[in-house]
Amino acid sequence: MLNLSVLLEDSARRHPRRVALVAGDRRLDYAEVDARASQVARLLTARGVGPGDRVALSCPNLPEFPVVYYGILKAGAVVVPLNILLKPREIAYHLADSGAVLYFCHEGTADLPTGEYGREGFEKTAGCREMFLITDGMFPDTSETFESVPREPTDTAVILYTSGTTGQPKGAELSHANMVLNALTATRLFDSSPARPDTHLLTLPLFHSFGQTVNMNAGLSAGATLVLMPRFEPQAALRLMREERVTAFAGVPTMYWGLLGALDHDTEGADHLARNLRLAISGGSALPVEIHTRFAERFGIRIREGYGLSETSPLALFTDPEGEPRPGSIGVPVWGVEARLVDRHGETITGEGQVGELVLRGHNVMKGYLNRPEETARTLRDGWFRTGDLARVDGDGHYYIVDRAKDLIIRGGYNVYPREVEEVLMSHPDVSLASVIGVPDARNGEEVKAFVILEPTALITETELIAWCKEQMAGYKYPRSVVFSTSLPMTATGKILKRELSGFPLPAPASS
Ligand code: AMP
Repeated sequence: MLNLSVLLEDSARRHPRRVALVAGDRRLDYAEVDARASQVARLLTARGVGPGDRVALSCPNLPEFPVVYYGILKAGAVVVPLNILLKPREIAYHLADSGAVLYFCHEGTADLPTGEYGREGFEKTAGCREMFLITDGMFPDTSETFESVPREPTDTAVILYTSGTTGQPKGAELSHANMVLNALTATRLFDSSPARPDTHLLTLPLFHSFGQTVNMNAGLSAGATLVLMPRFEPQAALRLMREERVTAFAGVPTMYWGLLGALDHDTEGADHLARNLRLAISGGSALPVEIHTRFAERFGIRIREGYGLSETSPLALFTDPEGEPRPGSIGVPVWGVEARLVDRHGETITGEGQVGELVLRGHNVMKGYLNRPEETARTLRDGWFRTGDLARVDGDGHYYIVDRAKDLIIRGGYNVYPREVEEVLMSHPDVSLASVIGVPDARNGEEVKAFVILEPTALITETELIAWCKEQMAGYKYPRSVVFSTSLPMTATGKILKRELSGFPLPAPASS
C-alpha cells in the first residue's frame, strides 16, 4: 500500500520501543506515536470523516504535529497543514479554500480563532464543522491500533499552501505517491537507514514541505529520532545538538549563518558539532558560498544543498552524492526527476551556462493547485512544472540557481541577478549577511539596493562599501545604496522576505 501513513506504521512495527520524538522532557517511542495517531484516526472516523475529506492542522513543532498528521492520513483523509503564524482572518481563508471539514489547532498557536473568526465564525465563513484544540500530551491512550484506510497512490495525501509568486495562497495537491517516493528518495540520498539511525534536530517548521518531508517523513521512515525545536535560536539549537547527540541537521541558510555566529562563543558546541554531525542539509533559498566555505573550514563538513518547492514535495535537486562538491550549485536532479531550462516561450535551452527557467518533471510533481484549473494549466504542461526560478547548468549537469524570475532586477535594460551581488557583498570581511532588491528609479527603471548586516566589529561606511562593490563588478550591477541593519525580515521558515525589504527598516512605532 503506497499510503503515506505506512512510513510511520512500518517503523512502529519494526522497532516499537525506539525513541521517535523528543520534545523537552517528553520522549515518545514509535509504538506510542503510532497508537496516538490511531486515536486521532478513530476520533475522525467516529465523526464520519474519511477518504477525501480535508482536515486542517495548525501546530508548532511538538509531538502532536506528527501524531495528528499521521492520524488524519490513517483515517484516509487529507492533511492541510497551516502556517502557525496565520491570523484568524487568514485561517478562515485557508479553511474555506481547502474545504476543510475539521480543524486541529494547537492551544499555543499565536492567534487562536476568536470573535468573528471564532468557532461559530468558522462554521459560517469556512463551512468547517468542528475545531479541536490540541493540548500538549493529549491522546494519551497507548493501547489503540487502527488499520489505515486504503488509498490509491494518486489520491491526495497533503495540501500544502504556498504563497506562490502572485495572488492569494493556493493549495498544492500532493498525492500519496508524491510524498512517499520523495521521502524515500531523501533517505537514500542521506544514506539513512534503521540499521544506523540518525538523530535529527527538527527546527524547520513542520507545516512547510522542507521539514515535513526531509526531517519528518524521511526521518520516521528510516527509524530516526526527531528532536523537536519549535522556534530556531542558534544557542539553544547548539545546546540541543550537544545534549541529544544530533547527527543530522536540515536548515535554511540563515540558520547556518546563525549557528556560525553562535559558535564563535561556544567552543564546546563547536567540538560536539564537528564530532557528531554527519549530515548537514541546506535548502529553501540559495546557500551563499561564503557560508558553505566557513562551515566546511570550521567543521570539516560540507553542507549538502537541496532545491525544491512545495509543489515538488519538495525535493527535486540535490548535491550529487558521488561527485566533487560544487559550492553554489543545487546539484543534480534526484531519483525519478528530470530537469531542463526553457526560454520565455517555453523552448528548451541547451547551451552551457545560458540562463533559463527551470522546469521539472517526475514522481514529486504535484497533481495541481486545488480548485484552480487556470493556475494549474499555466504552471503544469505535459507533466512539466514551471518553477519560476532562473538557473544555468554546467557541462556535467550540475544546476545553479541564478535567481527567482520575479526577483530579477532590470536596471537600464541590463539584467542584474540579486544573488550575484549578494555573493560579492558577503565576500567582504565586514559583511555578515546581505540581501539585494530592485527599487523603482526614474532614470534606470530600477536601481540596485542592498540591505546588510555587518560583522560586530565592522566600521565600514555605506560610501566605502559601495566603492568596494564598484571595483568588484560591472557598472550596472553594484548597489547604489546600502542600508545597514541588525536584522532582516524573515518568513517562518527563515527565508529573507524580499518583498518586505522595500519598506524596511520600518519606522519605529510612535511612543505613547
Ligand atoms: P517553497 O514553495 O516555500 O518551498 O519555496 C520554493 C522556492 O524556494 C523556490 O521556487 C526557490 O525560489 C526557493 N529555493 C528553494 N531551494 C533553493 C535553493 N537551494 N537555492 C535557491 N533557491 C531555493
